[in-house]
Amino acid sequence: MILLKISEADAAKRAAERRVCGDCGAIFNRVTKVPFLEGLCDTCGGKLKVRDDDKPDAVRKRLMVYRDQTEQLISYYRGNTDFFEINGAQPLETVTAQILAAVKK
Ligand SMILES: [Zn+2]
Repeated sequence: MILLKISEADAAKRAAERRVCGDCGAIFNRVTKVPFLEGLCDTCGGKLKVRDDDKPDAVRKRLMVYRDQTEQLISYYRGNTDFFEINGAQPLETVTAQILAAVKK
């Protein structure tokens, strides 16, 4: 099990900046993975949009559900030898390297 840990503020910010192609589903971010042409998919040229579950009200609800139902599982799994906690606020390349290192153990 891998826990990618980020603050709620960071999670909300990432959701607010995420854009998805309405045609092919490719994912972009207005900060970390900026499309070559604003509002258009690099892969197919489709129009980028905000996912319904990334809209502010939906994000607040998702975070509430996480706090109420999911977060308590962390303490349950934390003692397991296959549990890895990774700081998700690090650069993408660092997080990817740490995930790959964890799954190779
Ligand atoms: Zn596309």
